[in-house]
Amino acid sequence: MSGNASKAPGRIKEIDSSSNPIIKDIKALEKKRVRTDTNSFFVEGHKLVVDALEGGWGVRTLIVGKNAAGESHVADLISKCVARGVDVLLVSNKVLASLARRDNPQMVCAVVEQKRGAPRDVSGSTSGTWVALDRVRDPGNLGTIIRTADALGAAGIILIGDTTDPFATETVRATMGSIFANPIITIDEAGFVELAGKFKGTVIGTHLEGSVDFRAPDYANEPTILLMGNEQAGLTEALVAACDHLVRIPQAGTADSLNLAIATAICLFKAREHGLPAIDGASA
Ligand code: SAM
Repeated sequence: MSGNASKAPGRIKEIDSSSNPIIKDIKALEKKRVRTDTNSFFVEGHKLVVDALEGGWGVRTLIVGKNAAGESHVADLISKCVARGVDVLLVSNKVLASLARRDNPQMVCAVVEQKRGAPRDVSGSTSGTWVALDRVRDPGNLGTIIRTADALGAAGIILIGDTTDPFATETVRATMGSIFANPIITIDEAGFVELAGKFKGTVIGTHLEGSVDFRAPDYANEPTILLMGNEQAGLTEALVAACDHLVRIPQAGTADSLNLAIATAICLFKAREHGLPAIDGASA
């Protein structure tokens, strides 16, 4: 079941030992296989947990450092979770440190159910800008792109082929909560080529040998898919063939190319410019 509607109240349990089996199961979410088998992932930080709840994602377990449980914003979150049927673990600092990947563990964490969009969300869309990524490998790049896509009002993210896991802790952390904002669709290359054929709008590929300046397309003519290449190899030939235009960001200097996340941000800003709110008092 997705979300946390109409369940029996959650239970509160205290755990002081990092060898407790519940804690071991949560720790095992570091592994992609375990995340996939359990269809869940680990989220660190009060803001991210609140974003998950407010975004209607299924929070399975809330984990709170005992020392923080009395703080009003944490106590509020505990009550909200219990009311929605989420079990709460009150844990020692030692347990928190064993779960955290960094030196400074967050006092609030959660196990959240994975959620993905469907290809028909893309083929059926009549407006918006989708960001498609060919075999993205770097978790930091993916997290940054998910965050940027959220900030610039993209419709969602399409992950093509063998990509890094969007639900890996490092990626989720880099999204700063935007993982919960937009649909993420995973699809293989052949599936994407088929999807691009059915798509009602324009597929704009980005390529170092693109013949069109990235500022030239009429991005207001939605829907669009902005297709970005792999960090090392760029776009495959099959994906290049699926594009209506191949655009390039002009470069000066000696760099061969831009970092994938930076190139996505530059193109996506241009593609979404027409839909972004104006800043009062500023002239464009
Ligand atoms: N060696 C790769 C190649 O030949 O395509 C470089 C890939 S680049 C690091 C990763 C992706 O960022 C590219 O596939 C493209 O989507 C985008 N990119 C980077 N610089 C770009 C530029 N100047 N114009 C258009 N896209 C660019």
